[in-house]
Amino acid sequence: MKYSNREKNIYQNQPCQESFFCRNCGGVVSFSGAGTKHRNHCPHCLFSLHVDDLPGDRSANCSGLMEPIGIWIRKNQEWAIIHRCRRCGHLSSNRIAADDNPIKLMSIAVAPLATPPFPLERMTQILTDTEGGKNESD
Ligand SMILES: [Zn+2]
Ligand SMILES: [Zn+2]
Repeated sequence: MKYSNREKNIYQNQPCQESFFCRNCGGVVSFSGAGTKHRNHCPHCLFSLHVDDLPGDRSANCSGLMEPIGIWIRKNQEWAIIHRCRRCGHLSSNRIAADDNPIKLMSIAVAPLATPPFPLERMTQILTDTEGGKNESD
C-alpha cells in the first residue's frame, strides 16, 4: 500500500515560489532575496496574512491582514517580528528576512519609546535621585 504526502503540508517541505501583490501596500512580494525558505510577510511594509497556524502549514481559515506590532530578539540575537491579525487577534512571531525594509523594522522597534506609558519627567526624576543617592557610607 502506498501513501502520498505530496498534497499535505506542501509549503512546509518546499518553498513557495510564486510572487504576489501585498494586500496592504500593493508592493510586489517575490520569493527571491528573502534568504529564508518561508517568505511570510511583505518586505516593504512588513504586513503578513493570517494563513498559517504553524509556519508554512496554510491551515488557518482567517486570511485577515496581520499587522507588524513589535520586534523581539530570539536566543541567537536574531530579530523576529510579532504579527497581530486585525480580524481575529491571532499573534504570531516571524523571523525577519534579508530584504525586509530596515527603516520599517527600526520604526516598529522604537515605537514604544516614542509613546512611553509614564511621563518622561518621571524618568529624569529617578535618574537624578539615583545620582543624588551616592552618599558616603560613613
Ligand atoms: Zn506590503
Ligand atoms: Zn486571523
